[in-house]
Amino acid sequence: MHLHNSASERLEPVRTVDGVARLYVCGITPYDATHLGHAATYLAFDTLGRALRQSGVEVDYAQNITDVDDPLFERANATNVDWQELAQEQTDLFRSDMAALRVIPPDSYVRVQDVLVEPADAVGRLVERDLGYAVPTPDADGDDIYFDLAAVEASGLYEPGFVSHFAPERLAEAFVEFGGDPDREGKRSTFDPLLWRAARPEEPSWPSPVGRGRPGWHVECAIIATGALGEHVSIQAGGRDLRFPHHEMSAAHASGLTGKPFADHYAHAGLIAYEGTKMSKSLGNLVLVSKLVAAGHDPAAIRLAVLSHHYREDWEWFDGELDAAAARLDTWRAAAARSEPSPEHAPVQRLREAIADDLDTPAAIRLVDEWAAQERPSAAMRTAVDALLGIRL
Ligand code: ZN
Repeated sequence: MHLHNSASERLEPVRTVDGVARLYVCGITPYDATHLGHAATYLAFDTLGRALRQSGVEVDYAQNITDVDDPLFERANATNVDWQELAQEQTDLFRSDMAALRVIPPDSYVRVQDVLVEPADAVGRLVERDLGYAVPTPDADGDDIYFDLAAVEASGLYEPGFVSHFAPERLAEAFVEFGGDPDREGKRSTFDPLLWRAARPEEPSWPSPVGRGRPGWHVECAIIATGALGEHVSIQAGGRDLRFPHHEMSAAHASGLTGKPFADHYAHAGLIAYEGTKMSKSLGNLVLVSKLVAAGHDPAAIRLAVLSHHYREDWEWFDGELDAAAARLDTWRAAAARSEPSPEHAPVQRLREAIADDLDTPAAIRLVDEWAAQERPSAAMRTAVDALLGIRL
């Protein structure tokens, strides 16, 4: 299995750790249900997990639910609902969407609020090592804690842009876009990320060695990933917008704690627009999986429509895609219905090779189209499409 590595900017074989492919995919913040952008990311890495398992590699897959995070609290406040109820309802909806799309559930599926003591303790350890430092915070009981990136950089375990390859101006833009505060007084360096936010009145908070508060987003993922999978993971994955600051900072936190590089591979899925416009909550143009399913669309057609795009591309969703995918699915199912056992396995082998080549699902789909056009298609392909593409014919 070869996968593009954002860090090296090359196609590289997926490596295992102690014989196991340890996969961490950043999960949702549960305040809006699954839109096609989320679906595309989780379908890409579901395809990766399927391909690895089919080739005989054991996979350990962990994913978090970012249910302790500013956007969730802001949404709960704005709509006057309890944040825990909102998180639970949206987490349930996400899981039912994933089940409808036949995404194989992660082995560890970790809600931040269930393990909060772990990032809290980790922040304490980072402060002990002078990798975390307090910044005066007059509006809170205690102080906010920031992470000293330069200290990890000095140990050779971090370099700005090592995943994103952004130029300095772009690093600055992305840092602010994802809630970073480059100009905060008292920080040692511009891009030092927040490790621990001291409790403010009316905000959810938890105890920690550095006082009451809550963890920053990056340290949540660093601790959940290493807690579930071990100090070194095979693949850190997620949407492409997570390269910086999120994946670089998570890796820096983990390395600060372990003294080792965090991941062998950084894999990223492209971003999805809707009919010419960026899909976003503020524009109100999210295409939700649950709504498509409720409108009577076959989830297998949604899955097929998404997989017909290469996972690394940015692409646009047009409503007509679903009709095209449904028609293709009908053709495939008709072929499956007339398929016969056959000793000929070359088409299935080619399908495996397409997916093993950086998850080339568009090529895989063309091969299944060729199979479906045959007079007497082999039944082996039906099994392979189920196992590798997650589509039952
Ligand atoms: Zn994450």
